[in-house]
Amino acid sequence: MFEIIKRDGLARKGVLHTPHGKLETPALLPVINPKMVTVKPTELYHEFGFRGLITNSYIIRNDPALHERALREGLHSMLDFPGVIMTDSGTFQSHMYGEVDVSNEEIVSFQRSIGSDIGTVLDVFTEPYWTEEQTWDSIRLTLKRTEEATSIKGNMMLAGVVQGSVYPQLREECARAMAFMDLDVHPIGGVVPLMEQYRYLELVDIIIASKKGLTPERPVHLFGAGHPMILALATLLGCDMFDSASYAKFARDDRMMFVDGTARLQDMHGLECDCPACQGHDIESLRTMKKNEREIIIARHNLYELRREIKRIHRAISEGTLWELAETRCRAHPALLDGIRRLDEHAEFLERHEPLSRDGAMFYTGTETLSRPSFYRYHKRSMECYVPLFHRCVVLDEVGKPHGRHMGDTFTSLLSQGVLPLVRTPFGLVPPELNELYPLAQSLFPQIIDASTAETMEIREKEFLSAHGLEITDTYNEQTKNFDVNLLRAVAVARYQFGKEAAKILFDGDIELVVSKKTGKIRNVLVNGEHILSMRAGDGYYSLRLEGARKLVENLPSPKMRVTVVDDAVPFNREGRNVFCGFVYDSDPNLIPMDEVMVVSRAGELLAVGRALMTRDEMLSFEKGMAVKVREGTSSQQHHNVLDDL
Ligand SMILES: [Zn+2]
Repeated sequence: MFEIIKRDGLARKGVLHTPHGKLETPALLPVINPKMVTVKPTELYHEFGFRGLITNSYIIRNDPALHERALREGLHSMLDFPGVIMTDSGTFQSHMYGEVDVSNEEIVSFQRSIGSDIGTVLDVFTEPYWTEEQTWDSIRLTLKRTEEATSIKGNMMLAGVVQGSVYPQLREECARAMAFMDLDVHPIGGVVPLMEQYRYLELVDIIIASKKGLTPERPVHLFGAGHPMILALATLLGCDMFDSASYAKFARDDRMMFVDGTARLQDMHGLECDCPACQGHDIESLRTMKKNEREIIIARHNLYELRREIKRIHRAISEGTLWELAETRCRAHPALLDGIRRLDEHAEFLERHEPLSRDGAMFYTGTETLSRPSFYRYHKRSMECYVPLFHRCVVLDEVGKPHGRHMGDTFTSLLSQGVLPLVRTPFGLVPPELNELYPLAQSLFPQIIDASTAETMEIREKEFLSAHGLEITDTYNEQTKNFDVNLLRAVAVARYQFGKEAAKILFDGDIELVVSKKTGKIRNVLVNGEHILSMRAGDGYYSLRLEGARKLVENLPSPKMRVTVVDDAVPFNREGRNVFCGFVYDSDPNLIPMDEVMVVSRAGELLAVGRALMTRDEMLSFEKGMAVKVREGTSSQQHHNVLDDL
């Protein structure tokens, strides 16, 4: 069973529960060739801290001594490894050397008999140069074998491999067919030739297509992704597991792996690495030592480098900075840059998993940053959900953030003359009502704008102006009226966050704003004397209060903004307990992580308000994990006071 601990977009930190303990993901499994051990499994576990490894059951089966030993004492004892052991089936050998002399049934049963924690189906390796017809024929065979394997796996966890060559549509169909089978892990297979040829652009399409078809509660393993420079990008796209045979293979011909690429010992002019393997060595001592000793040192260095990068990725997911890390890593190679640039094509899919906000500020690292889903979201929502007060506007250059603090007087003066002030930013044009929202105010850009960013800004500006029928003007009216920018903001943020329909329902009545005396920012919104919303200082969005939720439940059609729980959970959620995955009956299909939601019973009764931590698909497919962090239940003991927010 797999559970998510922390997520950021498609990337997730999780725990895979296995018969040999927990595997924390993202995880890298070093490959052990039982006939050629470079670093001992027990060292991998105790010294390096790798909690899982992968070995090849086909090699073990074909070696009489290993075969007999594995059956007699089991895989864990034979390899002397207490952690999680995954086994591969011989598919890769068929790719390398042609047909293999084993049946699917035979190799799956063998993996079960030797005590593998996660066994793999004998799938058919789809080569990148194959035609669509050829690929589809072999997918059919893979699916047949996978179905067959589910009936013979017993208690062993089973990996169903997504194949489909370079055809995203076939990858997605293969993945979708497997989503209905009794499987535990999904490797994406047949991608090693693509990685060897640096075809990262196609790799990105393949991963995204597979993710679209798969069910979210199973970890995704990118087969053969064993170089540190690819791990951040692959994690960003939702891969949870990786394996590396390259740490040992590269060491055999004096290649050292680093996050920014591979270096050949013969080309290196110095050794700057401080990992435990490299300590005490310099480039000369490495070059002059015996080949077999050097091979071990380089293999160990490669493992330390992989370990460090996996740890770095864990931290980035926790801190909400994986986009920055992946973009930085992709600068190591032009082909990787193609990979991250390709994400532009998948903005819509990525946006569905993109959280509404993050804790820290967003950093611009290069033109690729503009393809992040939060840019796409701002552009989309500012076109669809924003209602301009006037149709005459001026476009101003940004002088500082938040805009209100630096340009507040200009805004007030322009508004009072019937002109809408818009600020030109890399996100597009920002009206005064939205400028405190994440990531508009919580982002950093260089002062010097590059040509590509300027071009994107210009396109987005034109689209925004035309979508709202806005006209740039230089003649202003006489002062007509004073505008309460806070009131405009209160309504505009609600439209942006909840949609126009919900905003109309929430703001129907006499509106009163509670504004912080210290910062001048909106804290609470009261309608007809009832506290319906609180505005968060950190990201500029609202927290929904019970009184607001009551208005919505009565007037907003279901399932919008709702998470419906099963009957058993009703009394607990009513008391303010969090909503867990197994208890979700259904939810709004458009929920994104960190959305405000109403927790309701199947009869539609309001039970609580809180924040969704997952999408609908995730809520419905996971067995474990928190789906909604509840803020308040309708019979919570602690009654919330308006003054608490001041
Ligand atoms: Zn090193």
